[in-house]
Amino acid sequence: MSNKFTGIGVSPGVVVGPVRRIVQVTSNEPIPATPREVFDALEKVTADLENAAHHIELDIAKEVLGAQAMMASDPALIEAIGARLSQDIKYSDVRSELADSFGGFKAALTALGGYFAERTADLDEIMNRLLAKLSGTEQAALVLTAPSIIVAEDLTPSDTAQLNLQFALALVVAKGGPTSHTAIVARGLGIPAIVGCAGVMEISEGTQLLVDGRDGTAYTDYSEVDFESRKQREAALRARAAAVVGPGRLKDGTHVTLLANAGDAAGAIAAASVGTEGIGLFRTELLFLESKTEPTVAEQVAMYRSVFEPMKGLRVVVRTLDAGSDKPVPYIHAPHEENPALGVRGWRLTRTNNDVINRQLQAIAEAAQGIDIDLWVMAPMINTPAEAQDFATRARALGIKKVGVMIETPAAALHADKVLAEVNFGSFGTNDLTQYVMASDRLDSRLSDMTTTWHPAVLRTIQIACNSAKSLNKSTGVCGESAANPYLAAVLLGLGVNSLSMAPSAVSEVRGFLSTVDLATCVEAALKAVSASSAEEAESWAKGILEK
Ligand code: PEP
Ligand code: MG
Repeated sequence: MSNKFTGIGVSPGVVVGPVRRIVQVTSNEPIPATPREVFDALEKVTADLENAAHHIELDIAKEVLGAQAMMASDPALIEAIGARLSQDIKYSDVRSELADSFGGFKAALTALGGYFAERTADLDEIMNRLLAKLSGTEQAALVLTAPSIIVAEDLTPSDTAQLNLQFALALVVAKGGPTSHTAIVARGLGIPAIVGCAGVMEISEGTQLLVDGRDGTAYTDYSEVDFESRKQREAALRARAAAVVGPGRLKDGTHVTLLANAGDAAGAIAAASVGTEGIGLFRTELLFLESKTEPTVAEQVAMYRSVFEPMKGLRVVVRTLDAGSDKPVPYIHAPHEENPALGVRGWRLTRTNNDVINRQLQAIAEAAQGIDIDLWVMAPMINTPAEAQDFATRARALGIKKVGVMIETPAAALHADKVLAEVNFGSFGTNDLTQYVMASDRLDSRLSDMTTTWHPAVLRTIQIACNSAKSLNKSTGVCGESAANPYLAAVLLGLGVNSLSMAPSAVSEVRGFLSTVDLATCVEAALKAVSASSAEEAESWAKGILEK
């Protein structure tokens, strides 16, 4: 067993403590029941969830437990279960009927992807509770009596409601993504958390574990020195974040444009409230994820305006629809694709839904009229100079002055001298660029050690594109998750990017850290990281230089 476990850090902080494993008890004993008994048990599950929602103090867990109670009492779920069970029969085992009924619901949520797909864990939770209730195998609440690190396959809010979390030092789970319940609950509690941490269930009960919720790493074998230096680094980041305000500046005074990512009006208000120079990535598809039909141009104009209004006097970089792959939009009826991440997504939608993109561009141009914002518009998944030219021509024809491309594919990065020549700016989408350079699905937690922008192969790819941008005198930014990591942010500046766009919550720490390093140090760290053989080496070498 390896002593290092890598996942996605979703709540920062560094702790050490004994592992407390939460194991789902799954018995394969048959569960005999009549339909009446099933519905009575489901009612009791709903009541338990409502009760837990009533008693838990943490607001966010209260909300999610309440939502689960609603799901458990959803007439559509009850109808689906009823449709599978014939009345007047005492089943010798109801497992497969229930699995089918819940399975249909889960498939529908999974098909919607993203946030919705992560909600399938709620249905699993409800079904497990139902089976436990019917078989009389419900466990007494697991009570934590000493400070512990909770390790589990996955944690639902009702699991966490049963734990007394004042003793939870950190949460580490094998499954889940950045918007999973574990992430939300951990952030609410202010304790470190890692999700998608494959293999973590192999760690035995009681093992001392070091958890770094910023890096998304956990270690069973670590030195006191390592623990102390991680703790100090974390404390320093927080202290500097609180102390530094104003526009982004390196120690030598070099200006760094700090921007925030947003998907709706609330995100725009958050971006403005953390003192950024604007929005560096407006993910327009988030406004459409729940629309069954394409919003009209007038509706789109209203939606975009709600994001532009709070940003008066500031930059707003709008990204055209990035539907497809991990972001399915219901009204874009895509056929089944064998490899959706390599299929028709982003700008490639012009091949199948050309008018949708044209109408969106028209709405963006219209929405910006009469509002004092610095409008930049870019297209996602641009792969070739021809695509860049096509986008630029369409956008400029509508009067949009600053047009750009996201650099998210190896082809766009390696060919950036030609791609960027067509537009005014480039923005590295490092989430996708990392996925494609490393040929590793960004959503597959088993590959999270591969999907890191620290990998020198990814850094080299960015370096090549930055060099092209410099020789063309075009500005580049980063709007993927990597910009939110203070050390990676410094390395990216060292590679030559000019702006960084991140979740609003990350801005103050990045700003604070950048104020401690000068450009020459960023360049030195970047060159060293690029020369490394592994992501671990690149990260530790760069950190060594940046902390000198
Ligand atoms: C990216 O790929 O890094 C990016 C910013 O776009 P998204 O995460 O929305 O695909
Ligand atoms: Mg992307």
